[in-house]
Amino acid sequence: MIGIDFTYLVAAVLFILGIKGLTKVKTSKRGNMLAAIAMLIAVVITLVDMQLKGTGIGWGYIISGIVIGGLIGAITARKVEMTAMPQMVAIFNGFGGGASVLVATAYFIPTAINNMFDISTVMLSMLIGSVTFTGSVIAFLKLQGWISSRPIIFKGNNIWNGLLFLIIIGVAVRVIMLGQNTPYGISLSFLLIGLAALLGILLVIPIGGADMPVVIALLNSYSGLAAAATGFVLKNTVLIISGALVGASGIILTTIMCKAMNRSLVNVIFGGFGQEVSKSERGGYKNVKESSPEEAALFLESASSVIIIPGYGLAVAQAQHACQELAEMLEKRSINVRFAIHPVAGRMPGHMNVLLAEANVPHEKLMDLDSINADFKNTDVVIVVGANDVVNPAATNDKNSPIYGMPILKAHEARSVFVIKRSLSPGFAGIDNELFDYDNTRMIFADAKQALQQLVLEVEEL
Ligand code: NDP
Repeated sequence: MIGIDFTYLVAAVLFILGIKGLTKVKTSKRGNMLAAIAMLIAVVITLVDMQLKGTGIGWGYIISGIVIGGLIGAITARKVEMTAMPQMVAIFNGFGGGASVLVATAYFIPTAINNMFDISTVMLSMLIGSVTFTGSVIAFLKLQGWISSRPIIFKGNNIWNGLLFLIIIGVAVRVIMLGQNTPYGISLSFLLIGLAALLGILLVIPIGGADMPVVIALLNSYSGLAAAATGFVLKNTVLIISGALVGASGIILTTIMCKAMNRSLVNVIFGGFGQEVSKSERGGYKNVKESSPEEAALFLESASSVIIIPGYGLAVAQAQHACQELAEMLEKRSINVRFAIHPVAGRMPGHMNVLLAEANVPHEKLMDLDSINADFKNTDVVIVVGANDVVNPAATNDKNSPIYGMPILKAHEARSVFVIKRSLSPGFAGIDNELFDYDNTRMIFADAKQALQQLVLEVEEL
């Protein structure tokens, strides 16, 4: 029907404009709103379409689904801490995959199907949806700290996974060859869902915590592909389009994240990166110098350029407002202050940008790795706030380091570096940080927020 198709087109265009809006901090809220409106239009028009076609709509189920799902979504989104956003994204990706499996199953069992294309789309939806669901649950459990974030590797895991994948494809082909949804085919489809669920677990469990940004982006892309496959199952154009958009943007984000860590996607998925390094291999620190906010203030007094590097610890401590307060105070003293944002600082893409935007740090003060790295050698003071891996020179100096090749912010090239963190504990990658041993580095062992608030007071008194 032309009116329905036209409305689907409007929704699809709004989805695209929404994604475009999300590429910039300034337009991101509007982008989010446009995409949400597009989703509302898509849902309403699908229901109208079904009503017009005389397809029975279980209004009771639909309304209860919207109310229960909406409540869970709204409460979780309001309550979640910024530090726990990545696991929320992970589990929501999983729900997308799970929903695709349920829809495909609900369609497959009662519907009279007698063509291979329809069965193939059902198989695809079940396969990708099931892998996405269990893979995302494992990613959630790792990020939430409910299971170890270290890679759990068993002997020959890649070979076993490969074999499992071939068996799944074999089962899918068998169901497709049956040409219709016989009871035997339906039983096989349940087997496929179970095996794909196992594959999802086995694929994500060997991946270390430090690679989670890539895994989340990849699972996001899978959830989009599962939705697109479900769109083919239901012959719903807007679901195909929105699924394809999520699939494509997830893959683009995955590529960007891999680039930021200088790793290939194959290496991330099959590399088992982030394994525990034993204490003796770490070697320990020899030249750590403890400092205080008072000493840092004295260095800042004579500085003309300062770069602040925020990391995951800033998010944990909710220190973004104190950070901005310090930056404003230094700027009043004609000190040039900028923030250097590493693409994987924090626990999800864009984590630091969102936090600092919340504290009203002007967007033009946020510099990415490529635009600021050359400036560190001309910078008087660098303040590293709760960041660790993203400033570890081992990534460029030590070929044996697990993070070798990851582009880092070259904080060590500045005249003086102050690192605010609570201890010498390693960051997410679980390795020592050479920067802490450098002659120009001083450590302030404290909670990021408390240290910054103290620093603000010290600078005020200068
Ligand atoms: P890291 O995890 O490397 O380091 C964070 C540091 O913050 C820790 O060493 C910790 O040290 C310190 N910290 C924790 N709490 C506090 C606090 N309250 N006050 C002060 N310091 C605190 O974080 P980075 O941001 O440097 O690096 C990100 C890492 O996370 C990379 O390995 C990246 O690959 C990975 N990652 C990134 C994702 C992304 O998309 N951005 C997603 C998932 C993982 P201490 O305990 O001594 O205080």
